[in-house]
Amino acid sequence: MFEKTFDIVIIGSGAGGGTVAKELAPLCGEGIRVAVLEWGPKISDDEYTGNEVDMARKLFVDSGGMLTKDGNMTLAMGKGYGGSTLSYTGTSMTVPKEVVDRWAVPGLTHGDVASRAQKYSEENNVHFQPEELLNDNNLLFQQGCRTLGYNVEQFPLNLKGCKGAGICNLGCPNQAKQGTHLVQLPEAEKAGVEVITNCLVEHIGIQELDAVVENAPFGEPSTWEEGRYRIKAKIIVVCAGAVHSSALLLSSGFGDRLPALGRYLTLHPALILVAEHPQTISNFCGHPKSFFCDQFWRSDGFLLESCMYYPFITAKNLVGFGSEHSQLMQAFQRLQMILVLAVDQAEANNRVEIDGDGRPVVDYTLSNATLDSLHTSMKAATRIFFAAGAARVHAPAGERFFIEASEADDIERLIPRNKVVPGRISITSAHLMGGCRMGEDLGTSVTDSWGRVHDHPGLFVADSALLPRANEINPYLTVMALADRVAERIRSDAGELL
Ligand SMILES: Cc1cc2nc3c(=O)[nH]c(=O)nc-3n(C[C@H](O)[C@H](O)[C@H](O)COP(=O)(O)OP(=O)(O)OC[C@H]3O[C@@H](n4cnc5c(N)ncnc54)[C@H](O)[C@@H]3O)c2cc1C
Repeated sequence: MFEKTFDIVIIGSGAGGGTVAKELAPLCGEGIRVAVLEWGPKISDDEYTGNEVDMARKLFVDSGGMLTKDGNMTLAMGKGYGGSTLSYTGTSMTVPKEVVDRWAVPGLTHGDVASRAQKYSEENNVHFQPEELLNDNNLLFQQGCRTLGYNVEQFPLNLKGCKGAGICNLGCPNQAKQGTHLVQLPEAEKAGVEVITNCLVEHIGIQELDAVVENAPFGEPSTWEEGRYRIKAKIIVVCAGAVHSSALLLSSGFGDRLPALGRYLTLHPALILVAEHPQTISNFCGHPKSFFCDQFWRSDGFLLESCMYYPFITAKNLVGFGSEHSQLMQAFQRLQMILVLAVDQAEANNRVEIDGDGRPVVDYTLSNATLDSLHTSMKAATRIFFAAGAARVHAPAGERFFIEASEADDIERLIPRNKVVPGRISITSAHLMGGCRMGEDLGTSVTDSWGRVHDHPGLFVADSALLPRANEINPYLTVMALADRVAERIRSDAGELL
């Protein structure tokens, strides 16, 4: 067993960990030793092949195919130097005031979160894509929404030198999408933070943790020798993502005194919907996600976003098989796609547990309210597709594989609620939130509004696990804003804790 000593150890290098590392980096100038321990490797620029199966293996936990306990949803979580910011799409939204008000965390105001999110918008070069760079897939979404009178808005994106490769979720081969791997982590390292990749933290104790370094078969090798490590640190900041932060704290025994640990998980359950146009459209070149529609956000609990996915993911999301499935896949250059994000409620029973080996198990039940939202969203998206000129639509809960344009007036009958059944339709999540939620009450929260774990001085959480309820819109800027807040508290507590 190797031994190491630091003052501050950050676990994970994604939106939360990368932000905390950069914000604490100035402390290195005062002789304080700061390290980031990251499970995944650092991927070299020439390893971004764009190959769907290859990149899924390199960028995601379980190649992006981790399932919930009941097998009804797949969960996409990034792994690597940069975490999920390697594979995120780069849509950069500030959480609305009414959402932070619904969180009702004493001491946390929307003004504070929004001003910190603005800081990261600037740092990540967030802006609107110029109109000439928007492809047909996106413009058709905008056109369909406008024709129906639905509110549609452009997404701010965090790009620098986008060449329109269109494969953001497989890692940008041109390094245009700004993530912590390009912005916050290099800055932290320059200031003296040590980042150790291929390093899985297995246990957190009192001012120490156990980790194992084992190089992945791809990416750059770790700067540390392979083997087991005991690492001493006076301050530990857990940023392993909603699922793994919760699982790590549970397997380290913190659940006994923190009954809410792992609970109140929200996932923004998502559907990928597909329609076929009569003519070729530009769809897989250009940034995939330019617009969103919030027409149904308050009334029916979902958002619609333009999107474009790759052949494997697309094929997996169609309900059915055989010749119709094949016909739709062969029409790839004529496909328009829409992503649905349902706003799910925070329920104590939706939670991260651990199995006998300490690995996470996500016990999540799709509520009837969420299934209602998904049903309404399929009908709304189908109307948008037809309003944009689609020849036929594949609705996962459709009576038939295809709904033809001539049947557009019969959508209510052709997409029945009773076909929206977990396990029958393909539901995914890339927005995992909660498990170590902020609050005051020990029974329903794990940290205070500054990410300090209740009754555990020196132990902090600074990632998506902090969210007390769903973010209700794409969440990474909120995660960075909250991590920024936690870092501020660590800086001010450092004199006492170190
Ligand atoms: C495909 C995809 C697309 C997305 N697109 C968008 C988007 O366009 N806009 C948006 O706002 N949000 C988007 N998101 C969501 C956003 O990326 C996440 O909300 C955000 O990155 C969460 O930050 P985090 O720090 O909690 O976790 P992550 O960024 O996932 O980082 C967690 C890190 O911890 C590491 N880790 C885990 N366990 C351990 C351990 N035991 N020891 C050491 N390291 C560990 C992991 O390897 C990982 O690198 C997307 C997510 C995905 C997956």
